[in-house]
Amino acid sequence: RVAWVNGRFRPRQRAAIPIDDRAVLFADSVYEVCEVFGGALVDLTAHLDRLDRSLRELAMAAPMGRRALTVVMRETARRNRVRDGMVYVQVSRGAAPRDFLFPDPPAKPTLIVTARSIDRAAAEARAVQGMAVITTPDIRWGRVDIKTTGLLPNVLAKEAARLRGAREAWLTDRDGFITEGGSSNAWIITQAGVLVTRPADGGILRGVTRGTLLRLVQEMGLPVEERAFTRAEALAAREAFVTAATTLVAPVIRIDDEAIGDGRPGALTLELRRRLHDVAEMAA
Ligand code: PLP
Repeated sequence: RVAWVNGRFRPRQRAAIPIDDRAVLFADSVYEVCEVFGGALVDLTAHLDRLDRSLRELAMAAPMGRRALTVVMRETARRNRVRDGMVYVQVSRGAAPRDFLFPDPPAKPTLIVTARSIDRAAAEARAVQGMAVITTPDIRWGRVDIKTTGLLPNVLAKEAARLRGAREAWLTDRDGFITEGGSSNAWIITQAGVLVTRPADGGILRGVTRGTLLRLVQEMGLPVEERAFTRAEALAAREAFVTAATTLVAPVIRIDDEAIGDGRPGALTLELRRRLHDVAEMAA
C-alpha cells in the first residue's frame, strides 16, 4: 500500500510528516473523505468544493490545483487497488517552528492522500441490521462547518458510544436539539412521514451525502424539512438514520437504548439507502 505525501508516493508504512507540521501541533489541517464506487470517486466535485471552502475559511493555501489533486486521488485509489472504499485527503498549513501565528512567509502546505478498500458486502450486511446511537453533549468548537482534523470531541463521543454498545453518537446542543453525529449527519422521519434534518447553518458539517439525499427526496416528492429536532422528537420518530460518504444511508434502530419505531430499520430508510446506492453507482 502506498500513500501520497508531499509530492510523491511512498510505501504507506514509511510515509511520514515532520513533527513540526501544524497538523501535528495544532490540528491546523482540513480533510475530506471521498467514497470510491467501482473504482470511481463519488461526488468528487462536491468534496473538492467543500475542501476549497475549508481552506478558504482558514486562509490556508491549496497544495495543488483541483485537476492535479483529482489525478493524485484517482492514482492513489488505483495504486492501492481500491475498487470499493474511500480516498482520504488531508491538507495542513505546513511545517514550521511551533508558533501559534501563521508562518510568515507561508509554509508549503502538506498534502496527504491515502486510500482504503472496504468489503461492500460486509458493510451492506452490517448497515441493514441497523445501528444503535447514544446522545451526548456537543462540546465541539464554534466552526464545525469547517472539516478540520480537530476531532477530539468526536473521538470522545464515538468512544462513549462504543462503550455503550452503540456505533454513533448524536450530539446535542444546549437547548436539547440534535446537531449531528460524530461522523455523520442525523435524520429522522416523523410519524407523519416527514423527513427532518438540521439546516447546515453553521451548527453542523454540510455533509455531501446529506446534500445528495436532500436532492433525491425532493425529486421523489417526499415531504422534507430542514430544521432542528430534539432528542425527544427523535425518540418519538417513526424512523431514524444517518448519512455519510462511507456509509451512505445507515438506519438507526435505537437511541439511548430506546427502540425507534418497531426497533428495526425503517422501510423508507432502506428504500432511500437503495436509491442513494443507485445514484452513487450512476455517478461513479
Ligand atoms: N458530520 C460530521 C461531523 C462528519 O465527520 C461527517 C463525515 O464524516 C459528516 C457529517 C457526513 O459528511 P459527508 O456526507 O460529506 O461524508
